[in-house]
Amino acid sequence: MFNSLSERLNDTFDRLRGKGRLTEADIVSAMRDIRMALLEADVNFKVVRDFVAKTKERCSTSEVMDSLTPAQNVVKIVLDELTELLGSTESKLVLGNRIPNVIMLVGLQGSGKTTAAVKLAYLLKKQGRSPILAAADVYRPAAADQLSALGSEIEVPVFRGDGADPIEIARGSIREAVDTMRDVVIVDTAGRLQIDEQMMQEAVDIKRAVKPDQILMVVDAMTGQDIVNVVSTFAERTDFDGVIISKLDGDARGGGALSIRAVTGKPIKFVSMGEKPDSLEVFYPDRMAKRILG
Ligand code: GDP
Repeated sequence: MFNSLSERLNDTFDRLRGKGRLTEADIVSAMRDIRMALLEADVNFKVVRDFVAKTKERCSTSEVMDSLTPAQNVVKIVLDELTELLGSTESKLVLGNRIPNVIMLVGLQGSGKTTAAVKLAYLLKKQGRSPILAAADVYRPAAADQLSALGSEIEVPVFRGDGADPIEIARGSIREAVDTMRDVVIVDTAGRLQIDEQMMQEAVDIKRAVKPDQILMVVDAMTGQDIVNVVSTFAERTDFDGVIISKLDGDARGGGALSIRAVTGKPIKFVSMGEKPDSLEVFYPDRMAKRILG
């Protein structure tokens, strides 16, 4: 993902570097290139507009234009602004003091929620925690089997309860955590094809029943622009703490994912880059911005 965006931006920077001193026209032309590159990468239109306006304003100062290395300064400004767009600093997963902590994952069907639940369990386990997974996705056939199979791969127990009532399963998983000395419960809830009344009600009911320390929404980077609507629609109905972007290893353009923070205000906490348990990474805006700028 982002390969062609990286290439386009680097071409623009190379052209600027080749010029030595920069004129106002060079900045205008570079900003046009950057605007096109972002739009073609599928970044939200308003996000692009604001990004280019801010970047242009910062690049057009005499401090930049008259410096000995103006092109370098432009690259630095683009990097800064991209980092800011992605959320500036790392948004940590905040776990409380209570034991067990509860993390609830929500998201549309197929978004990668079950996979993300397992990866998060794996990450926490590596950090010395003792997670347990709760299979509260009772609608998708085989979701609980999938969770059990993946859970046993990473040696994390999976609580399935009666396999029928998501709220009871979530509650039961907390009792199970207490009984078996597990300090984090990760609840995998059921997704739907789209955000509907039933999905929201269930999320609200589970939230009320288990009072999660963190609610994370899993979104699929391959979704394109609509990813932003999915996040805002969910956020309008029930508050949550942050986003996990899955399938960032895919070959979609990915601009929707880059727009999430700026449009919805929700921080990106993790990104998932594959199907293996260890492919969940804490999201660092500066590292992602550097990766995109190559
Ligand atoms: P759920 O319905 O939201 O629980 O979705 P799943 O966790 O079952 O994931 C749906 C599909 O996407 C599965 O085939 C996963 O293997 C795949 N998947 C999930 N996360 C990633 C990822 O980060 N990268 C890739 N390439 N595939 C993923």
